[in-house]
Amino acid sequence: MSVAAEVRLKRLVVVDQDLCVGCMSCMFACSRRYVDAGLGYTAIYVRSAGGVEKGFSVIVCRACKNPSCAKVCPTDALVLRRGGGVILNPNLCIGCGNCRAACPFGAVQWNIYINKPVICAHCGYCVDFCPFGVLALEEVDS
Ligand code: SF4
Ligand code: SF4
Repeated sequence: MSVAAEVRLKRLVVVDQDLCVGCMSCMFACSRRYVDAGLGYTAIYVRSAGGVEKGFSVIVCRACKNPSCAKVCPTDALVLRRGGGVILNPNLCIGCGNCRAACPFGAVQWNIYINKPVICAHCGYCVDFCPFGVLALEEVDS
């Protein structure tokens, strides 16, 4: 008798923002995952929190269970992801930017080259590229 493998759902989380040095390795890694050498395809965003003393803000998708970004999409280009967050169907996206405006965390990044959002897949690819343990994947309920 075969037993179906248990699928563990995960989401990306910021473990300790104070450890971030602003190297942007996570951003380059995310973009690279989409075969881009720059920062055009990054779904994670690191910015100054307002001065050297204040450190950096690390902005990631929170994997909402009832995501604002999907509610305002006029073409249903964003569908709910199991475990939270959304999956983008780029073929349906018309680049209106509603999702970006609606995300309460500012977590929808934008690809200016194709005029479409960059949506976090919660794959965790960036986690291993952070040398300071700022990021992690955590298990979530379905
Ligand atoms: S930019 Fe694309 S994904 Fe975002 S709300 Fe508009 S059509 Fe939907
Ligand atoms: S992009 Fe924003 S609104 Fe959409 S699931 Fe992520 S955190 Fe929630």
